[in-house]
Amino acid sequence: MTRFLVFLEQREGVLKKSSIDAWNRVQEIAALSAGAMVTGLIAGPVDRQPIGDLLAGDGVVYHANEELLRPYRQEFYTRLVTSLIKQESISALFFADSSLSRDLAPRLSVLLKASLLSGDLLFNRQGHPDGSFRPVYSGLATASFLPQRNITIYNLSPSRGMVTRSSADGTIQVLPIELHQQSSDNLLAEVRRIVLRQNSLDIAEAGIIVAGGRGMGSSAGFALLEELAALLGGAVGASRFAVDEGWRPHAEQIGQTGKTVAPQLYFACGVSGAPQHLAGVASSAIVVAINSDHDAPVFQVADFGIVGDVHLVLPKLIEALKEFLKKK
Ligand SMILES: Cc1cc2nc3c(=O)[nH]c(=O)nc-3n(C[C@H](O)[C@H](O)[C@H](O)COP(=O)(O)OP(=O)(O)OC[C@H]3O[C@@H](n4cnc5c(N)ncnc54)[C@H](O)[C@@H]3O)c2cc1C
Repeated sequence: MTRFLVFLEQREGVLKKSSIDAWNRVQEIAALSAGAMVTGLIAGPVDRQPIGDLLAGDGVVYHANEELLRPYRQEFYTRLVTSLIKQESISALFFADSSLSRDLAPRLSVLLKASLLSGDLLFNRQGHPDGSFRPVYSGLATASFLPQRNITIYNLSPSRGMVTRSSADGTIQVLPIELHQQSSDNLLAEVRRIVLRQNSLDIAEAGIIVAGGRGMGSSAGFALLEELAALLGGAVGASRFAVDEGWRPHAEQIGQTGKTVAPQLYFACGVSGAPQHLAGVASSAIVVAINSDHDAPVFQVADFGIVGDVHLVLPKLIEALKEFLKKK
């Protein structure tokens, strides 16, 4: 029987939306490939909600509920995943793309002699992950892939609008799993943990993103976007130009050399819509563009467009939104 394993990432005890989205996608693939079983793995505590309420479909989720695993520790996570893959005879391992998966997946692929595929992957009609394809060169061509090894690791970009419905049907069985300690473990120490900004929402997880580019004019210009994002409960994103200028941190860069995002609502403010930027935006459910140039390429992908100066349009939008929220 084909067995798929989904690595469900928690951060600070909260299951990541992108992981729930990956779980749902793998459930769909399994439903199309007769008889495939979906198994999940969580390393570290999940504090807020029962795991079974967060995930759709049927399957077993192994939970290593140990405080030691709350922060990402490469050695421990590697050991946990490799032992479960052997125990369950897993043929395909799925991650949701994140800084953790970009570190762990290549390491596992070497250790397990597994094929590794990442990006905006689509699977063949039968749903079986063997034979997947993805857009390349910023969407100008499509490449297909046939894994050559017994195990394949997929690092999935989020699906359009990131589907994180909770389980209405199916049964999720949560089973404990232990990390087998080794004598060398006490030689490992966390050297330093860097938190860039407290309480800032990760753009890869955000349901609403308000992104700005060169048209915002300066780092001070982004204050408008921060205000709008705060009102909407969203996150601020940036084009590479804004990041290269030092207006915004690299963690907020969206696109080919930044993050791939999949919010329900994406605002592109003073962003031209270069292919390298749009490569990271394609999975957004609704795109709203504000740009003073009505020929800007971003309008070709926008669902709603406003031709105008961001410094005039955004304050009006913020005022209207405040009025709207007051009445709610
Ligand atoms: C290998 C490679 C990788 C790259 N990776 C990325 C990436 O990951 N992410 C990324 O974003 N870019 C990436 N780029 C850069 C990309 O090609 C563009 O240069 C960049 O996205 C442009 O940023 P921008 O839209 O902010 O600026 P511009 O292209 O200069 O556009 C500014 C826009 O703002 C509008 N504007 C100006 N003033 C106003 C105003 N007052 N009100 C309203 N609108 C206004 C203009 O009409 C224009 O459309 C990459 C490039 C290369 C070669």
